[in-house]
Amino acid sequence: MAQGATELTDTPTPRLAPEAFQRRLLAWFDQYGRHDLPWQSPRTAYRVWVSEIMLQQTQVATVIDYFERFMARFPTLQALADAPQDEVLHLWAGLGYYARARNLHKAAQQVAADHHAQLPVDSLEALMALPGIGRSTAGAIIAQSTGKRAVILDGNVKRSLARLHAVDGWPGKPAVERQLWALADVYTPEERLADYTQAMMDFGATLCKRSQPACTQCPFNDVCLARAEGNVQGYPQSKPKKALPTRQTLMLILEDDQGRIWLEQRPPSGLWGGLWSLPQFDSQDALVDWLATHVKEARQQASLPAFVHTFSHFRLAITPQPVVCQTLNGVREKGLWYDLADPPALGLAAPVKKLLAQVKAQREPFQLANLPGHA
Ligand code: SF4
Repeated sequence: MAQGATELTDTPTPRLAPEAFQRRLLAWFDQYGRHDLPWQSPRTAYRVWVSEIMLQQTQVATVIDYFERFMARFPTLQALADAPQDEVLHLWAGLGYYARARNLHKAAQQVAADHHAQLPVDSLEALMALPGIGRSTAGAIIAQSTGKRAVILDGNVKRSLARLHAVDGWPGKPAVERQLWALADVYTPEERLADYTQAMMDFGATLCKRSQPACTQCPFNDVCLARAEGNVQGYPQSKPKKALPTRQTLMLILEDDQGRIWLEQRPPSGLWGGLWSLPQFDSQDALVDWLATHVKEARQQASLPAFVHTFSHFRLAITPQPVVCQTLNGVREKGLWYDLADPPALGLAAPVKKLLAQVKAQREPFQLANLPGHA
């Protein structure tokens, strides 16, 4: 067993000796793994950290452009710490899960204040004490930027290990997660840590994929228990499902006589925390009251289609309500008039971005040349 490895008590027996597992995985990685990702050169702790946070919930192909733009604007941790939150959120817009960006920014400010703007890569605990950095992300940062032994267990690694050992249960359950951490620990080598870590991530992302894993090309297909059972898709087991509740909201698209749209900034935490959104109302009465209080000469415009935006824990049914006005008075929320023709750099909530794009498209003159067949 590798030094510092977790003792196996309720853990499935490893399917291979750690050295054999590492040898097979690294041989596969040398031939098929990803060696030219932008955060691999230079592989600094800051760059690895940003990439790891972006890669949570998002695929590599999507992340690359965001990562390059982010690094061009914030080349150092200090630059990120010094930036206004609006700018960080603006560069994040489209990646979703904005808590990641807020935590990244907050953590950069903490590291700048407490660690001389250097991530504390000599301590797993110090990294995990920063906002948004869990055990697997901390392990990935250490292994990839220092080459020191550290263990990772992201979603891809969980899936591969669960299949290889036919681990029962949903990996979000602490007892199941504990077994997977122990297995990940057993297999982690003492050397080539950056490659091994990337190899584990690549293996799950490109070969032992969620649907249609390429088992015939897998270096572990002779020892994989899920495959032997003929039940590869049965692992890992899914989270027990709960029906998502639906909430209703009216979004006011308030336009002034210059065609600008009124936006308000959301409170710093909670849903769309710190992002810019349209005024929202629970009922038509509340919207009408608000207009009567704050707006002169409100005129309703042609409506836009209602739609549903799905969050992890509920669905939001959005009814857009376009209104044109003369003047707006006495609004307490932090707000601004958003010019669609010359948009300021703001982090916008995803459905708001979509609605603003629809308003802009409605204003653009009809272009026959844009239709298919009229190049
Ligand atoms: S044989 Fe298939 S299911 Fe098993 S580890 Fe390999 S790719 Fe994954």
